[in-house]
Amino acid sequence: MVPLREDVTTSVVIVGAGISGIATAFFTLKYTHRPVVLIDRGLIAHGATGHNAGQLLADFERPFDEIVSEFGFDLAIAGWRDIRSGWELLSEMYSDADCRIKFSRFPGYIGKTTLDQTIIYLEELSLKVKGGFHDEQCYISKDAPFLSSIPEKYRDLYSVVEPRFIQERLETESDIFHTLVVDERGCLNSALLCQEVAKYLQKTYVHRFGLYEQTQMRKLVLHDDHVVIDTGNHTITAEHAVLCTNGFEDFSVFDKHGLAIDLAFHRMIKGEVGYMSGYLEKMNKEPIGISFFMPDIDPRHEEEGQYFYLTRRPYDIDLDRRPGKWNLICVGGPEAHLSDREQYFFEYDYPDTMQHDIDAFIKGYYDTDPNKKINYQFTWHGLMGYTPDRIRRIGFEPRNNRLLYNVGCNGIGLIPALFGGRKIARLLSGEQLPPSIFDPRIH
Ligand SMILES: Cc1cc2nc3c(=O)[nH]c(=O)nc-3n(C[C@H](O)[C@H](O)[C@H](O)COP(=O)(O)OP(=O)(O)OC[C@H]3O[C@@H](n4cnc5c(N)ncnc54)[C@H](O)[C@@H]3O)c2cc1C
Repeated sequence: MVPLREDVTTSVVIVGAGISGIATAFFTLKYTHRPVVLIDRGLIAHGATGHNAGQLLADFERPFDEIVSEFGFDLAIAGWRDIRSGWELLSEMYSDADCRIKFSRFPGYIGKTTLDQTIIYLEELSLKVKGGFHDEQCYISKDAPFLSSIPEKYRDLYSVVEPRFIQERLETESDIFHTLVVDERGCLNSALLCQEVAKYLQKTYVHRFGLYEQTQMRKLVLHDDHVVIDTGNHTITAEHAVLCTNGFEDFSVFDKHGLAIDLAFHRMIKGEVGYMSGYLEKMNKEPIGISFFMPDIDPRHEEEGQYFYLTRRPYDIDLDRRPGKWNLICVGGPEAHLSDREQYFFEYDYPDTMQHDIDAFIKGYYDTDPNKKINYQFTWHGLMGYTPDRIRRIGFEPRNNRLLYNVGCNGIGLIPALFGGRKIARLLSGEQLPPSIFDPRIH
């Protein structure tokens, strides 16, 4: 770990060394000739990137038909294509950096319980199919109480199956999930990925890349032709600054027009705390990613109801203390909101209510043997930064183009961060890109 020990001047300064900052650094170094300095207030990948379960998926956290209504079909479908391009970009970064960590890809499963959830999904699917995307499948149980209420216009979009077909894929005995969606998923340890990529960047771009940990941006001052970051003891002067800070609120932005950008940034990103629990079991199953929409979820306001997601992946660290082959089972879902400018600390307690909800879900739906005592080796929480419309912001600050953003991770942030990093590199190389749903805008 090396903190900043002197004033430096560079071309691009990236703030935040989670997956967004690492991907932005990787693509900027690869596709431009510009020198890059990357700083983090703590250690690399110790933010949200070190506090998820590593489930990879490319998706929005808002019904797709709403995005179409807001931005129009063409922009929305281009946004969908962009998010999905994150898969290829991840493979590119993984193979360029010659990563050693395990990276699996597999079909992902989503279980839905109600007619509302099913119809909203079918509407989304019909729009994606219209846009040329045919890679998701939908199955509905022949016993679904709402089967006959599904509008005829969606009939070509799903197959009717035996309930067992759905239960087997969701790995549950419960009969409340009547609809199954199959999409593309994967898993890897995103913190280890960032560490491996950072090492690769340091080795490959010796004269163009500097990484400084325990270096907090306290103040960002925007001028017409450069930016200055104040880290307390030292300054970083650069042509452009890229914020990859997730939902952290601990800095101020100054611009010659006053505090408009500062206020807008803090209003644009709201912190939300996500909770997870994990335990080990003998490795006798393949990696998997499953999401469960419980009956109380209003599909237009998913954050208000009970939603759980389960990731099972090989546990590939700490094997000296726990020799043998293990799978790590992680379940998340419960979240809590932070109020404006409220500070978040990883040291906060893990509330019993969150653990109780997750445990009740696991015992009720996944690991249901009543005689089995589950020993949770890991319980943790992490910070997610949500934009008001739950769409990531990638690009130039409209009031001063010395500043760029790759933020608004949301709960599905790993694959989108890769796309964000590539897009920032394109903008920094001077490419003119067409308008996009991810463009930062004036609120
Ligand atoms: C519990 C949980 C479960 C999740 N599950 C999934 C999942 O299954 N799939 C998925 O795709 N995504 C998931 N996510 C989201 C995913 O983890 C995030 O989208 C992603 O890690 C965000 O990366 P980031 O680089 O934007 O932010 P972070 O990893 O949080 O990095 C931001 C960095 O900025 C630094 N920073 C902030 N302010 C400053 C400052 N002033 N000066 C210097 N540095 C600063 C922080 O120290 C931090 O390291 C989950 C998140 C959580 C919390």
